Amino acid sequence: MNIYITLDYEIYFGENHGSVEKCIIYPTSELIRIAEKHNVRFSFFVDCGFILKLDEFRKQFPQLESDYKSIIEQVKYLSNSGHDIQLHIHPHWEDSFYNGEHWIIDIKRYKLTDFNEDEIENIVVKYKKILADLTGKSIFTYRAGGWCLQPFSKLKKIFKQNNITVDSSVFRNGFYTSEQYSYDFRNAPDKDIYKFEDEPAIENRAGYFTELPISSIRNSPLFFWKLFLLGRRNPYMHKPLGDGKAISAPGQRKQMLTQYTDCTVCIDGYNASLLEKALMKLTSKKFDNMVVIGHPKALSRYSLQELEKFVEKNKTKYNFTTYSKMFINK
Ligand SMILES: [Zn+2]
Repeated sequence: MNIYITLDYEIYFGENHGSVEKCIIYPTSELIRIAEKHNVRFSFFVDCGFILKLDEFRKQFPQLESDYKSIIEQVKYLSNSGHDIQLHIHPHWEDSFYNGEHWIIDIKRYKLTDFNEDEIENIVVKYKKILADLTGKSIFTYRAGGWCLQPFSKLKKIFKQNNITVDSSVFRNGFYTSEQYSYDFRNAPDKDIYKFEDEPAIENRAGYFTELPISSIRNSPLFFWKLFLLGRRNPYMHKPLGDGKAISAPGQRKQMLTQYTDCTVCIDGYNASLLEKALMKLTSKKFDNMVVIGHPKALSRYSLQELEKFVEKNKTKYNFTTYSKMFINK
């Protein structure tokens, strides 16, 4: 089994977006500590639109200089020490700005597909370049912001032109639509890797792109009751390390608390308690790949502890790996 621990490296996007130090730098330094102690490496999907905005506004607002520098230094450190840096696009940064006190984040155009094709091309080229320049390495794997990459027909040609050949955004049976979000992976094959061409949730054996879906798990309402209640009972262990708040996803919480929900295998907060269960399920299905998602901002002391236990227990038995290790020079 190849195990990919993947992190979407970003702040929050609502009014309460949180600080770079608490949402990104500190929790990532904890991940680095775990990785180095156990000699494993992780994959980071870096929200490069934010780096570009920091660079743009730091000239006018010198207080942004330290945020910019700490991100640049941490991303370079991650890359130089063997972690994978890959492309994560939150295009709403195009419409957002810094007002001298905080970021005014406009999420009316939240999905890349909310932009027209010329704009999409410009965003993909620009966002990929900043990561390629920072790391000096190949950027070829994509994780869509908020899992939104449909309709893929709007992205397909531009991704091909930019040598983005692997996607890791789909999770089987995931389905959600709101003002901002839209993804539908209900038809995704029950596979841990497949090729696709026009639609990432539909297998096409002759397809140009490889999908390495985020592993998926079905959670009971009881699980989510525990998840929501634990944070209140023991905030020291269960409160997210990030100091912001996620944008609202209307209806999602109610659904989770009342019916079985298909979710990503995830290390955010209490979700990390399911790592072993998910691994056992994937092993029994004879899958070769397990892709775990997380967000530094949403990690808790509890989830870091669970991640470390999981790595310690499985590091000799399974292959903790990254996209670059598996897809380059093959
Ligand atoms: Zn994201």
